[in-house]
Amino acid sequence: MRKKLVILSGAGMSAESGIPTFRDMGGMWEKYDVTEVASPQAWKQNPQLVLDFYNQRRKKLLESHPNKGHIIISELEKYFDVYVVTQNVDDLHERAGSSNILHLHGELRKVRSTKYPNLIYELPGWELKLGDLCDKGAQLRPHIVWFGESVDKITDAQQIVKVADILVVVGTSLNVYPAAGLVHFAPKNIPIYVIDPTKPTLVSENNITFITEKASVGLEKLKEMLIT
Ligand code: NAD
Repeated sequence: MRKKLVILSGAGMSAESGIPTFRDMGGMWEKYDVTEVASPQAWKQNPQLVLDFYNQRRKKLLESHPNKGHIIISELEKYFDVYVVTQNVDDLHERAGSSNILHLHGELRKVRSTKYPNLIYELPGWELKLGDLCDKGAQLRPHIVWFGESVDKITDAQQIVKVADILVVVGTSLNVYPAAGLVHFAPKNIPIYVIDPTKPTLVSENNITFITEKASVGLEKLKEMLIT
């Protein structure tokens, strides 16, 4: 039987595609703290600022491409049943060809109704404006889990991690909860690989292999280790 390989990816996964990580973002977005544009309060106080922030990120995403790391993950489907659980809101895993992807924190290319959360749409371009409405006439907002909002997909993600045979954590500082807690749902003693140029603080477990490399190089090494 094919083994289940579960990948937990974070912002570092897309860094080589030119999309800044969370920590790098403070500098990118003028003088704003991202938490000030990614919360329900911000949406209430200054929706235009929030829309501008996500419009800029969406525009940048449309100009970006999956990197070698995303491609290696999709290629691993030749050998394993691969499940990607990502904190990223970009669609680079999809565009690299991965089949099973769960977005914990939403999707940048999608928008949803502020009144009817089940009305979710793919935005054709990059710009969402005030006055853009859902089919029932309510304002649309980014389909993003903001700070302070519940991560509805976390239970599905836990179920996926619970049945993993191999777990790979790539490009996440493991600072943002509840995503960071997912590692602890892995079955005891399965091999865990952590790929990140900066070693994240993780409760030390014997079965963790740290590959302190950027995603593309680390995933190439991982592929060699797994397929021998
Ligand atoms: P984080 O910014 O907290 O951590 C990023 C991690 O990536 C760091 O540990 C860093 O050392 C590592 N890293 C940097 N360059 C790398 C590379 N080339 N290869 C591999 N790793 C590299 O990000 P996080 O843990 O994902 O949490 C941040 C939150 O911000 C998440 O909720 C996420 O939704 C959001 N976010 C998403 C995107 C995106 O969709 N691409 C980008 C920025 C932030």
